[in-house]
Amino acid sequence: MKENYLLIPGPAPIPHTVAQAMSTKMFNHRGPRFKELITELTASLKRVFQTEGRLFILTASGTGAMEAAIVNFLSPGEKVISLVNGSFGDRLASIAAIYGAEVERMETAWGQPLDYRGLEAKLKKDTEQAIRAITVVHNESSTGMINDLEMISRIRGDHPALLIVDTVSSMGAVELPVDRLGVDVCFTGSQKALLLPPGLSFISASERAWEAAARSKMPKFYFDLSKAQEYLEKGQTPFTPALPQCVALQEGLRIYFTEVQESHYARHRRMAAAIRAAARALRLELLVKEERYASPTVTAVMKPPQVNVDQLREVMRNRFGVEIAGGQGPLEGQVFRFGHLGAVTELDLVAGIAALELSLQALGYPVEPGCAVSAAERVIRAG
Ligand code: PLP
Repeated sequence: MKENYLLIPGPAPIPHTVAQAMSTKMFNHRGPRFKELITELTASLKRVFQTEGRLFILTASGTGAMEAAIVNFLSPGEKVISLVNGSFGDRLASIAAIYGAEVERMETAWGQPLDYRGLEAKLKKDTEQAIRAITVVHNESSTGMINDLEMISRIRGDHPALLIVDTVSSMGAVELPVDRLGVDVCFTGSQKALLLPPGLSFISASERAWEAAARSKMPKFYFDLSKAQEYLEKGQTPFTPALPQCVALQEGLRIYFTEVQESHYARHRRMAAAIRAAARALRLELLVKEERYASPTVTAVMKPPQVNVDQLREVMRNRFGVEIAGGQGPLEGQVFRFGHLGAVTELDLVAGIAALELSLQALGYPVEPGCAVSAAERVIRAG
């Protein structure tokens, strides 16, 4: 029997009590049990986000929350700066453009740092304050780069542009104080670092963002947060919520707060350092070169010339039961990605690294047996 090691950038493995919680009997989503549940969940998620602002639970994947983050706070014709250095930054910019925002993309090559200086210059030049929002992906899962949110927040400074941030693959894995960072709209998905199955997403809004929402003229129906607010006041959601996921969320957050929060951050950091050390021991190039931009949850490794990424993934899956991801967009066929988030343990990752060594060797790339495993172990041992 092969184990199934899920080392992709989400959905991530979940604790078994969270999986069990999903087998709940159904109950009335307009009754007292749900009212109590949504009240508790909303308060707990505000603690995760470290926000005193508004927070809504959406029955939708992360992309639904991306759409909600655009259509509720902007109007057609409004100027938006979209920072792009990967596929999800590109998606957020595209959604804004589709709904009629005047999007200016500040794009750098995928896997390269954002143009922080360029952003600073653009905002300085905007003396009429025509820029209404800045969109950015905190942790770009397509490249394994964590963008510098502190820096973006500092650069935005007193400019009134809303800071709209995708934290789909970082929330829960790193310290992310939404209010302290001045993030106006922040959203994440359930299936990444928060120990939950897919199906829900969570979005917060600052008071400034909420004022902008009152003026927003973009079309919306399912993701209309003013409706969500109205129903939340009654302890409900406007539409039928994914009840099993909501019950699982209660258990996931219980584990998150009682067992893991601080150690969860440290474990993600260690796992990122371990896989990076393993790649170096294998003489493989990392897509993200600078340590300070290394994502705690996803690592992209350049493939060696003689190895085909699809074949590598196939051998790892079929022979060892290890699932890793390939590249996206321009990186397809160029990189493979390890996800190390959620309930993935250091031991799971070491098993994945052992499978990588064996699979590379099987595909003709010379490997000194154990070199990557031992490099990863040294990082883990150092704590
Ligand atoms: N943003 C980021 C950074 C992601 O990693 C993902 C999914 O991988 C999404 C957005 C989209 O989320 P979903 O696939 O849940 O719609």
